[in-house]
Amino acid sequence: MQNTPIINVLIIGSGPAGYTAAIYTARAGLKPLLYEGMQPGGQLTTTTTVENYPGFPDGRTGPELMDDMRRQAERFGTEMRWGNIANVDLSQRPFSVTDEEGNTLFAQSIIIATGASAKYLGLPDEQRFAGRGVSACATCDGFFFRGKTVAVVGGGDTAVEEALYLAGLASKVYLIVRRNVLRASKAMQDRLADNDKIEVLYEHQTIALDGDKKLEKAILVRRKGQSDEAQVEIAIDGFFLAIGHKPNTELFTPTILTDEQGYIVTQYGTQSTNVDGVFVCGDVCDPRYRQAITAAASGCRAAIDTERWLSERGIKGE
Ligand code: FAD
Ligand code: NAP
Repeated sequence: MQNTPIINVLIIGSGPAGYTAAIYTARAGLKPLLYEGMQPGGQLTTTTTVENYPGFPDGRTGPELMDDMRRQAERFGTEMRWGNIANVDLSQRPFSVTDEEGNTLFAQSIIIATGASAKYLGLPDEQRFAGRGVSACATCDGFFFRGKTVAVVGGGDTAVEEALYLAGLASKVYLIVRRNVLRASKAMQDRLADNDKIEVLYEHQTIALDGDKKLEKAILVRRKGQSDEAQVEIAIDGFFLAIGHKPNTELFTPTILTDEQGYIVTQYGTQSTNVDGVFVCGDVCDPRYRQAITAAASGCRAAIDTERWLSERGIKGE
């Protein structure tokens, strides 16, 4: 520790929450260090046009929007590092943190902005066909399924958005929905209704995937548990998961308190966690809204909370 400089603010994560926290703490002269993780730019880099982020009346693609945020944070002096934080010791301050290259850092304060990761159904076949037909990112992998038949699982905004995107590439898209209604917003449902390449399979659940060297079919159950329950097979080349995300909290639990769904709990009205000097923002602490704008807003709040907390301890920006 003797020769290792102590960082004022370590930000873990590079989605809208982390980059916004970086813009604010950098502008406050706190010289933040931000670890981008394995997905620089976060979840929005896996989508096409973002239409509901204010300030862009004609929309902006997810990767462009995140690149703008990154450059804005760098402009004010944020130091960016690629890669994951692998370990944190929050038992004493300054906090000790190790990245996956084995570098140890010391930080007066930490802002957790690790977001959320795609969920899988938990079928062994998902692993078997990973990279050979199974994907959790249509914008990343859709290109490989031009002119082919694919299925998307889920009934939320992500599933509908992925189905619409894939319909622009594939010849046919099944949307596999476990209930008899969609969770997606009305705007998304209207777009779905206008697309004749997409067939919605309501009340269907996937029980297996099969194929020789690559994925060839999905085996589904229709109206599971009902008197007319039936097994259905669909011939597909690609199977896309869009059933939501789980908060990335493994690094911090059990020290940092989480709720029953695994989201980090904030202290009322602030972005503080239960550990003094550790703040949180974005989807990792938000089971309810999970939008780019709410993630960015909570990044701002976390930065302001951090700045005040440091200032109360005599640490001010340069
Ligand atoms: P994330 O974007 O999840 O970023 C988390 C970051 O943490 C990543 O950079 C990751 O690399 C990093 N990280 C994780 N673990 C570590 C670690 N150990 N060390 C270092 N870094 C780590 N919202 C909208 O408002 N409009 C939309 O149109 C929209 N479209 C979407 C489309 C899709 C396909 C998806 C999946 C989501 C969409 N959302 C949309 C939701 C939006 O993307 C999220 O609400 C937002 O990205 C959350 O931001 P975040 O900063 O909390 O985390
Ligand atoms: P979500 O809203 O949590 O929806 C998840 C969907 O997956 C639900 O339909 C759910 O079914 C289904 N599901 C969950 N587990 C399943 C399982 N084991 N088997 C089959 N289906 C399963 O997640 P999301 O769609 O990723 O959206 C997350 C957030 O990002 C939301 O707030 C959303 O508004 C936002 N977002 C916004 C946009 C946009 O504004 N353009 C785009 C994408 C995402 P049930 O409905 O039955 O629970």
